[in-house]
Amino acid sequence: MPERDPNIRKRDFKQVNCGYIQSEMLKEAKRCLQCQKPLCVHGCPVGIDIPEFIKHLSLNDPKQAMVVLKRKNDFPAICGRICPQENQCEKFCILSKRNESVSIGNLERYAADNTASMDSSNTMIISKNGIRIAIIGSGPSGLTCGGDLLKMGYDVTVYESLHNAGGVLRYGVPEFRLPKYVLDLELCNLKKLGMKIILNTFIGRTKTIKELFYEGYKSIFIATGAGLPIFPKIPGENLNHIYSANEFLVRVNLMHSFDFPNYDTPIYKARNAVVIGGGNTAMDAARTALRLGAENVKLIYRRTESEMPARKEERIHAKEEGIDFVTLTSPVRFIGNEKRFVKAIECMKMESGEIDNSGRRHLSKIIGSNYIIETDMVVLALGLHPNPILPSLVYGLIIDSHGHITTDDSFMTSLPGVFAGGDVVGGATVIEAMRMGKKAAKAIEKYLKNNCC
Ligand SMILES: Cc1cc2nc3c(=O)[nH]c(=O)nc-3n(C[C@H](O)[C@H](O)[C@H](O)COP(=O)(O)OP(=O)(O)OC[C@H]3O[C@@H](n4cnc5c(N)ncnc54)[C@H](O)[C@@H]3O)c2cc1C
Repeated sequence: MPERDPNIRKRDFKQVNCGYIQSEMLKEAKRCLQCQKPLCVHGCPVGIDIPEFIKHLSLNDPKQAMVVLKRKNDFPAICGRICPQENQCEKFCILSKRNESVSIGNLERYAADNTASMDSSNTMIISKNGIRIAIIGSGPSGLTCGGDLLKMGYDVTVYESLHNAGGVLRYGVPEFRLPKYVLDLELCNLKKLGMKIILNTFIGRTKTIKELFYEGYKSIFIATGAGLPIFPKIPGENLNHIYSANEFLVRVNLMHSFDFPNYDTPIYKARNAVVIGGGNTAMDAARTALRLGAENVKLIYRRTESEMPARKEERIHAKEEGIDFVTLTSPVRFIGNEKRFVKAIECMKMESGEIDNSGRRHLSKIIGSNYIIETDMVVLALGLHPNPILPSLVYGLIIDSHGHITTDDSFMTSLPGVFAGGDVVGGATVIEAMRMGKKAAKAIEKYLKNNCC
């Protein structure tokens, strides 16, 4: 995949990957062996017929490739850009044995990008059954569940607490990985199919689940994601200019703080920024800090680089752009100046041992290895728990010790007719959230057939 020069792209928010041109797409599509028993399909959580869509591309027919993709996926332009294909479809490609997997994600993106204006799935004729379903949360799980239910004939309304739809795709993943116009195009297709999206409505506060049932909704799908940041619980974490990654990314992506004062949300533009964490969120925060103008950005992670949960491509891009990876290192405390602004982090080196019962290497602190890293901004990207407000307000909804809503195999919660999926039940990727949304849609239909009419 052609990419923009790291020295140029690190100072703007434009897309890093340029997308294939036709000749590159054809060359890549023709590498697919069209296996009789394609393992790649089993590696795809939503079961896209990968060889078939690639076959159409190899015949230079992206429109037909898109028809195949859309049977299982309403968001091919998004998934083509940000799915961790290296752990899914591409991992199972027979050519991966020679380290030469077909670039399925890049081909998916090509098909979607080159047919955006001629996508006909939104003009599909659907016979409506008049049964109303409410979806809470407009991230990939809620939108996928809603999209599938729409196509089955249900009347779907999505409630979103923020002023714009898309969940993490809107407020978390930065423009340089997923441009907002791509999200808007795929959202627009669902709206054309008849999806209603009601913004600025926090279910649990603005209205309750009970009220939704009174209003006539026959089933509800909770897809409120995981928006509660985890803090390290070490001294100094309340100092000024220490952000949670969620707040930092929401300010930039959703509230356009990089364009202050044209937009009214400010953000601190650090000179020496430090991000703590090793996941996609940490990479996004570090690369965003760089694009806001930081001269140095360090990324502190307590394990080794190969153990980072972030996608490999994002790690490579971050390093190419100059992010300094400080691995096997843990923060001990944050140090502030007299005005309570962070000025340094005391860190400690870590040692990686044998693999323990958790399946990961045992980590131990190296006593006496403490040292200081100077910084004027810290972003904490240590993971997220589900937002507890809605689950805690719904009487009878069972949640586990991590705050995830508990469901059965069909994603029905402890409350009849109330289903849940995505990060709020314990996912971690867009496609996993979508898989749960799809499965829940089928279960909702079955539930309504037995209980509604
Ligand atoms: C910065 C970042 C980068 C990521 N990068 C990747 C990546 O590259 N690839 C990948 O596969 N995954 C990535 N992920 C993970 C992925 O984005 C999530 O797994 C996925 O978005 C979960 O989808 P969801 O629909 O469950 O929830 P979300 O996307 O979190 O959406 C939930 C929505 O519900 C709304 N909401 C919450 N409570 C209420 C309420 N009470 N009433 C109404 N609305 C409510 C929220 O405002 C939000 O819009 C990333 C995550 C982050 C944070």
